[in-house]
Amino acid sequence: MHQLIYFSRNTMSGDLLKGLKEILGVSQRNNQRDGVTGSLIFDKVWFLQILEGNLEIIQATYKRIEKDSRHREATVMTVRPLIQRQFPDWGMGGLLRSPDVQEIFLSHGIGGEMDPRKLHAATVVDLALDLKAFDQRKRSDICKAS
Ligand code: FAD
Repeated sequence: MHQLIYFSRNTMSGDLLKGLKEILGVSQRNNQRDGVTGSLIFDKVWFLQILEGNLEIIQATYKRIEKDSRHREATVMTVRPLIQRQFPDWGMGGLLRSPDVQEIFLSHGIGGEMDPRKLHAATVVDLALDLKAFDQRKRSDICKAS
């Protein structure tokens, strides 16, 4: 089991939420098939993605992703062995940087514009885990309210 973390620069314009949803739709389908889990953080300028699974499979997935014209400058931050998955139930969870999660970014030292070139891979994982917990709390509050 390995984890690959990279960042890249968005090249999409127009409806970015729609663009992200399209990426996530294909990713979830392919990743479920390939036993890949992880998380995709998008702040409209940068993508940060964590891919977890069999080493050869996540490398092949990354090779496919880096050719995608919806982003450029894909740069691997780390490829490391994992004892167990950190995002076991996420075929690919999408996390958009929106005003309601600014405090979470701030708690990881990201106040203004994010510059992934200055981030450590460990910070990306901690940020993604906190954003995932926030997302899950929000979903459970919506379920309770309805
Ligand atoms: P296809 O069925 O061939 O294409 C799926 C759909 O995506 C098509 O409808 C097509 O219109 C659209 N599409 C494909 N490429 C482009 C493009 N360059 N511009 C606009 N639309 C396009 N794929 C994964 O499998 N797992 C991931 O975790 C993953 N993460 C990604 C993260 C980012 C930031 C980006 C930009 C892409 C990611 N992708 C991921 C998508 C990946 O780059 C490939 O597009 C995808 O894996 C192709 O799979 P497919 O051959 O099954 O898709």
